[in-house]
Amino acid sequence: MSVLERLDKIHLWHPFTQMKEWEEEEPLIIERGEGSYLIDIHGRRYLDGNSSLWVNLHGHRNKALDRALEEQLGKIAHSTLLGLGNVPSIELARMLVEIAPEGLRRVFYSDNGSTAVEIALKMSFQYWRQTEKRCRRKLFISFSGAYHGDTVGAMSVGDIDIFVGRYSPLLFRTLKAPYPYCYRCPLEMSYPYCGLACLHVLEDILRKEHSRVVACIIEPSVQGACGMIVSPPGFLKGVREITEKYGIPLIADEVATGFGRTGYMFACEEEGVVPDIMCLAKGITGGYLPLAVTLAKEEIYRAFLGRYDEFKALFHGHTYTGNPLACRVAIENLRIFKREKVLERLKPKIRLLSELLEGFRGLRYVGDVRYKGLMAGIELVEDRDTKKPFPPSKRVAYRVCMDARKKGLITRPLGDTIVIMPPLSIKKRELKRMIGILYELISGL
Ligand code: PMP
Repeated sequence: MSVLERLDKIHLWHPFTQMKEWEEEEPLIIERGEGSYLIDIHGRRYLDGNSSLWVNLHGHRNKALDRALEEQLGKIAHSTLLGLGNVPSIELARMLVEIAPEGLRRVFYSDNGSTAVEIALKMSFQYWRQTEKRCRRKLFISFSGAYHGDTVGAMSVGDIDIFVGRYSPLLFRTLKAPYPYCYRCPLEMSYPYCGLACLHVLEDILRKEHSRVVACIIEPSVQGACGMIVSPPGFLKGVREITEKYGIPLIADEVATGFGRTGYMFACEEEGVVPDIMCLAKGITGGYLPLAVTLAKEEIYRAFLGRYDEFKALFHGHTYTGNPLACRVAIENLRIFKREKVLERLKPKIRLLSELLEGFRGLRYVGDVRYKGLMAGIELVEDRDTKKPFPPSKRVAYRVCMDARKKGLITRPLGDTIVIMPPLSIKKRELKRMIGILYELISGL
């Protein structure tokens, strides 16, 4: 074992990781990156199958992004947004507003997806407090299987038991509507015969509770962490129509789906949905630096205006809010989208991925195959007829991912769902190789 491997085991505490297991295994330590590849300290190359946790868009060591960062370093690395402006944060805000769904004109910066969500929750809560007399609203509506991050507010609107269950005494109460995980329908119905019955449940909740509801938060189009659950056509639009009918702000958490991941710049675009608040992070810097944004409609922003001593301001902010390096690289990310026609050039790759994935459907342990854009999941089950999952102790998808490493592919499962989320810049032959490795391993189970 190298010195680095030993020191990692002695000093690090890795996120979402059973460290006992980590201490017993050989750690993989990345030293460099190049295009779609990660390169470890021994010089071994791996395809980056989950875009370094869903963030990398244009490849590692992208020349334009590297150059943008270097250029900004020649000016300033950081200055605060508390009481000061900085050049890249203003330019980026303008660019984001131009591409965001219409009406989202205010940009509030933070540095990760969880805080972008936390801010959306506080923003919507305070909005009502400052616009409604005798406001009783304190309930958020979120969806079954939701994941919005790991901070306390984000966990409160989350619904993945192993992540949030043990913290439940700390969390605030939310109302849960069913998300259309059609392979395992929470209403035990079948799409399309159900007529999107999950929307009726949402409407029932709002009919009864709307005067106590602050906002509804959703992962539009795809629930990522729950296992790449793709919602059927009409669902997101339906959620927007119902929330609009009852005057409830809709928060679109596009942390995972934003920036081309689903084939659209933002997933909301596909059904022409305009949320009241939108959370962005992950791909915003092309996977280079931590940065997040909570975009809000002007109407929400205006509710925070007043005399200083009315204390209506949004008392929230982080030390690195609007960091110039991160904003500058995010600007370059957006320029690449334009200059290189990224969304247009994605189309054949999306088609190829879907064709390749369809080939998994007949395999013995493949229960479901779900994909949208370059965001996909293969759910493994013990019994396809009954959809019975494998016992968690078997860690089937995890073992597939560990074996994939030996063949030069890195990805990480979500439960027994294998995630496929390559950089948008992946080449077709790399995509074929990636899926080929998984096919070989899954068909050999
Ligand atoms: N929202 C969604 C939809 C996510 O997928 C994630 C991260 N996977 C988050 C929020 C939290 O983002 P972060 O890890 O940057 O805090």
